[in-house]
Amino acid sequence: MAPPKPTREPEIKFTQIFINNEFCDSVSGKVFPTINPCTGDKISDVQEGDKADVDKAVKAAKAAVKRGSPWRRMDASKRGKLLSKFAELLERDKDYLASLETIDNGKPYTDSVDDIHASSDVMRYYAGWADKNSGKTIPSDGDLFTFTRHEPIGVCGQIIPWNYPVMMMAWKLGPALACGNSVVLKPAEQTPLSALYCASLLKEAGFPAGVVNIVPGYGPTAGAAIAEHMQVDKVAFTGSTEVGKLVMQAAGRSNLKRVSLELGGKSPLIIFADSDIDAAVYWAHAGIMNNHGQNCCAGSRTLVEESIYDEFVEKSKQMAEFRSVGDPFEESTQQGPQVDEEQFNKILSYVEAGKVEGAKLEFGGERHGDKGYFVKPTVFSNVTNEMRIAREEIFGPVQTIIKFKDLDDAIGKANSTPYGLAAGVITKDINKAMMFAQNVDAGSVWINCYDMITPQTPFGGFKQSGQGRELGEYALKEYTEVKTVTMMIPEKNS
Ligand code: NAP
Ligand code: MG
Repeated sequence: MAPPKPTREPEIKFTQIFINNEFCDSVSGKVFPTINPCTGDKISDVQEGDKADVDKAVKAAKAAVKRGSPWRRMDASKRGKLLSKFAELLERDKDYLASLETIDNGKPYTDSVDDIHASSDVMRYYAGWADKNSGKTIPSDGDLFTFTRHEPIGVCGQIIPWNYPVMMMAWKLGPALACGNSVVLKPAEQTPLSALYCASLLKEAGFPAGVVNIVPGYGPTAGAAIAEHMQVDKVAFTGSTEVGKLVMQAAGRSNLKRVSLELGGKSPLIIFADSDIDAAVYWAHAGIMNNHGQNCCAGSRTLVEESIYDEFVEKSKQMAEFRSVGDPFEESTQQGPQVDEEQFNKILSYVEAGKVEGAKLEFGGERHGDKGYFVKPTVFSNVTNEMRIAREEIFGPVQTIIKFKDLDDAIGKANSTPYGLAAGVITKDINKAMMFAQNVDAGSVWINCYDMITPQTPFGGFKQSGQGRELGEYALKEYTEVKTVTMMIPEKNS
């Protein structure tokens, strides 16, 4: 296979709102800039959707799922074929799409290519489910025959973040479309470009008009209009816990639309003294540094057994020193810029908070280079679970290393957080691993690895990390209404 070819200045083909399979300008005539985080320069203006555009998109989506519409009448197997075709188009255009993703988001080009492959895999996975989401026959009491139908919910609003723009879109579109819903999706204001290009691929794949509509714009306007809309039947959101709460409130205030939320985390990775220390240092480093720490399930608390703590800190520091930060189009680069100035400033303010609260800055903690939003990989030792850097989501390349005494202490500290998205444990002792897995409050637990997510494995949070599950068979439930049909079969009349 030919190696992927990056394009440093990809042509920006689509910057308009996508409704009813057509690109159009915003009703208000407003645009907003999308910025290259490597330089802080504007890449392009994008049409700014707000309530009026969301109304148009919802109208189109509603018509697309109404009784008798081409989408509603389409064989489920054909829906699967369209999803497969979309997966194929993502692969076909991966060089271009990955280049677009990298200039808009800042992540290394090789990571963007991996994201496109992963997105295509998710689409193929759900293509397979399209004609397999079957109901049941139920042995009901009495002279009754009961079966269930799994029906689409209807119009699904989907609000996604900027950390994995194409992938977050794939996680949401895959199950929604496999189940026969229509969609109004809002990409994050920081990264609208890849979603708009994907809109053109969805059309090319053959999805009927109105099945997927994409409205770029701001959260408090376009996002809130989706969450509040009386004709949106379900909203799926990924982002901060704070905004997740607003989305749920909006659903409650409006039409009680179904809600699924994939929110923040402060996920612990537990390292026992019996583990291979170099492997453990690697997993802990990768677990927090990947995607520049901009990962909801980042291993943002490294908990290390006290007997190996000092050695672990020293090796983690060395690993951070060797991490290559810089031009995301260079093949050797592991870390590009943070997504925007706001995130950059937020991360550096947490570094200050860590210092003030008494954590020891081992490495980093400052800007890398003289332009763009690059932050040096950062390692803090002497962190306690009570410090802000151990409690709040930093969403940056900041490793906080905390000491623990034994399994009970590790479980106690791991669970001492309002979040519950993910957790990991590194040990050679299977009993400790299973005890930890059983007792930690987290939606995903990784043993002797970290951040292993596949299309087949459900992902989502305990506690304030969310509601519902994405990926795997479980995600179908989030996009399905169950209809119970009961027929009387009177014995006497037979
Ligand atoms: P955010 O505000 O929660 O953004 C996520 C999505 O929600 C974006 O599309 C955003 O629109 C939209 N949104 C914002 N306000 C909204 C509202 N009132 N109603 C409906 N939708 C709304 O996250 P952020 O501001 O980008 O980042 C802030 C922090 O959130 C990060 O530092 C990180 O801690 C966390 N975060 C978590 C994840 C995750 O994967 N769990 C992802 C991103 C961020 P805009 O595009 O206008 O912002
Ligand atoms: Mg925001």
